[in-house]
Amino acid sequence: MENIVLHVDDVHKSFGGLHALSDIDLQVAEGKTHAIIGPNGAGKSTLLNVCVGRLKPDSGAVVFDGAILTGRSPHDINQLGVARVFQTPEIFPDLTVLENVIIPALSKRDGAFALDAWKAMYAEDDLREAAETALEDVGLHGHRQQEAASLSRGDKRRLELAMCLVQKPRLLLLDEPTAGMSRLDTNRTIELLKEFKARGMTKVIIEHDMHVVFSLADRVTVLAQGRVIADGSPEEVRGDPVVQEAYLGGVHE
Ligand code: ADP
Ligand code: MG
Repeated sequence: MENIVLHVDDVHKSFGGLHALSDIDLQVAEGKTHAIIGPNGAGKSTLLNVCVGRLKPDSGAVVFDGAILTGRSPHDINQLGVARVFQTPEIFPDLTVLENVIIPALSKRDGAFALDAWKAMYAEDDLREAAETALEDVGLHGHRQQEAASLSRGDKRRLELAMCLVQKPRLLLLDEPTAGMSRLDTNRTIELLKEFKARGMTKVIIEHDMHVVFSLADRVTVLAQGRVIADGSPEEVRGDPVVQEAYLGGVHE
C-alpha cells in the first residue's frame, strides 16, 4: 500500500480574472517521482509555488505528512523537510560554490540565522563536511572554491541540487531542472535524480523534456489551462488522446 505524503486538496488560485489553478487535486506517494507536465501557462509553476508557500491559494489546502502547509511561510515549509529548485536558478553568485551549499546546511540546522554571522560559523567542520559531500554527490567538488557566478548554466543547476541535498529533504520539488541544459548535462541530471530516488527521497518534478519524464517518473499528472486533464502512469498518460490534444491544440500564455 502506497503511503501518500503530499496531498493537494481542491486548490484554486486566480490572478485577477485569470484562473491559474482550478480544482487541483494531487497525491504524491512516498519515495516516488511524480512528474507534472503540461503546455506553457498551464499553471505548473503556480502549483509548485503554492506547495512551497510562495503563493497563497484562494482556497484549498496542501498537506505534507500530516502538516498543513497552506498559510505557512516558505522558511517554515522548508524546515519541515521540503526543498525546492525553482525555474530560475537561485544561487548566491558572489559566494564560492562551497559557501552556497553551507548556507542551506546552516539554515537547516539553526533555522533563522543572521547572514553576517554565517561566515564565522561556516568554519565548523560538520557543516563544511556535509557541504563538501553534497558537492561530491553532484560532481562539483572540484569547483568548490570557484565563485558561483563563473559556473556554466548546467553546473549552476547542479549546485542548486547540492544546496537541496545538503538539507537531506524528505520531499524535493523541482521546476524544470533541465531547462536550457545540453543533452549531456540533462543525462547527468537524470542519473543524479535516480540516485536521489535510491536514497528514498520523494520528488515532484515539473518537466517539459519527455525524455526526462519517461526516464524518471512513476506517475504523471497533466495540467492544461489550470486544470488536471490526466493522471496516471507514464504509459497511460502518453497514450491519452486528451493529453495529445492539449499539446497539439497549442494552449499558450
Ligand atoms: P507554467 O509554469 O505551467 O508555464 P505558470 O504557473 O507560470 O505556468 O502560469 C500559469 C498562468 O498564470 C499563466 O497564464 C501566467 O501568465 C499566469 N501567472 C503566473 N504567475 C502570475 C502572477 N504572479 N501574476 C499574474 N499572472 C500570473
Ligand atoms: Mg513554469
